[in-house]
Amino acid sequence: MSASHSSAAAPEWLAVPDDANALTAGIWPASAARDADGELRIGGVGVQALRAVHGTPLYVVDEDEVRAHARRTLAAFTAAAASHGTRARVYYAGKAFLCTEVVRWVTAEGLAVDVCSGGELEVALAAGADPARIGFHGNNKSVAELERAVTAGVGTIIVDSLIEVERLAAVAARHDVVQPVLVRVNSGVHAETHDFLATAHEDQKFGFAMDDAPAVVARIRDLSALHLLGLHCHIGSQIFGAAGFAESAARLVDLHARLREDGELPLLNLGGGFGIAYTAADTPEPIEQLAAGIVDAVARECAVRGIPIPDLAFEPGRAIVGQAGVTLYEVGTVKPVHLDADRTRTYVSVDGGMSDNPRPALYGAQYSARIASRMADAEPALVRVVGKHCESGDIVVDHEYLPGDVTPGDLLAVPATGAYCFSLASSYNDLPRPAVVAVRAGQARVIVRGETIADILSRDVGVASEGTA
Ligand SMILES: *Cc1c(COP(=O)(O)O)cnc(C)c1O
Repeated sequence: MSASHSSAAAPEWLAVPDDANALTAGIWPASAARDADGELRIGGVGVQALRAVHGTPLYVVDEDEVRAHARRTLAAFTAAAASHGTRARVYYAGKAFLCTEVVRWVTAEGLAVDVCSGGELEVALAAGADPARIGFHGNNKSVAELERAVTAGVGTIIVDSLIEVERLAAVAARHDVVQPVLVRVNSGVHAETHDFLATAHEDQKFGFAMDDAPAVVARIRDLSALHLLGLHCHIGSQIFGAAGFAESAARLVDLHARLREDGELPLLNLGGGFGIAYTAADTPEPIEQLAAGIVDAVARECAVRGIPIPDLAFEPGRAIVGQAGVTLYEVGTVKPVHLDADRTRTYVSVDGGMSDNPRPALYGAQYSARIASRMADAEPALVRVVGKHCESGDIVVDHEYLPGDVTPGDLLAVPATGAYCFSLASSYNDLPRPAVVAVRAGQARVIVRGETIADILSRDVGVASEGTA
């Protein structure tokens, strides 16, 4: 197949690779490599062995990669803060990928943990996370969730509405607790990848408008059961540069400086959203550069207003776990689809799909893929990797070049699936959700067992139980 023939339906950002077996740097875990036979190994474990023991689809997570990103991110923000004489705390945003083992890894590396539901809180607590180093988010926390958080000693609750302020104050008072809180504000800056949009008001559900924040802060200061730590803001996700954060920080510091005139405000939390590479076209700034850019902006804005720099907090999720995850699938069918007289796209169907990774269907997210079980010399062919669900939007990898001889039985590996795949998974079409296997130093171990059909049937009370049929 000629390159021009196969590239006709490819997007501009996707180049025909010199080698459709190559593992592009920055997308795969650092440990990913091919052995002498061409088989992919992750964390020193071969994918054939993983398939033989655990089946497919399978979430593989490289423990050392998660730990390395946690360490590096903490070091980056700590250094950036120290260079301006302040401190930084880094919360792992658990919603990216939460299970007790991941919580243990990141807390062992010095991160605090963010949760945004009662269920996530239970997982963090079950992992033994220090409650004082848990942040609790959400725009509609229930009384029961707030009760659990307050009595467990959750260190920071991020309040999101006036109703919640009153609700939380009542809960805290009932339990004789003075609950530390942050006020989530909406800076009017929304950012994604390269672009950010700055408006006076954002039309979305999270946080208080900047104009409304002073009244909320005054109310919290009146409530003896609440202790105000400061402001919180999260401007978006998959952000590649510091510019959006700098714009948001300027607005936040301005508000912070005004609110400081009436009382202490020791902390400023600037949220998460630091981007990662999913394909070779993605070029996120190194986290050290981002951290320095953001903290420098805060320091500059504080200097202008003649106020001290508060303690800072950040909440990376994807940046900690994204690159550590690889999903393994088995190819089931391969089918050429003729787009017109001279353009063909090869549809490669795998044994999972939008149930284990809904991001392409939800956000149009792009991924890449490689044949993992072998190397191939065949000419690269433009493929679309699709799942086995009953939706035409059930896409795993929209555009990729794979060796043209891709065939049923091949193992396909999709990298950069560590964030927002396991956590967003469903059992749509009654596909049991895959297991999560952690790999490290040549060892593999299940950290979340796979769902089974028996699990699915066990919730269906209409299923005749043995002996009653
Ligand atoms: C989702 C979220 C994060 C983490 O976002 P990433 O893009 O995974 O870094 C951090 N803070 C808040 C409040 C969030 O909702």
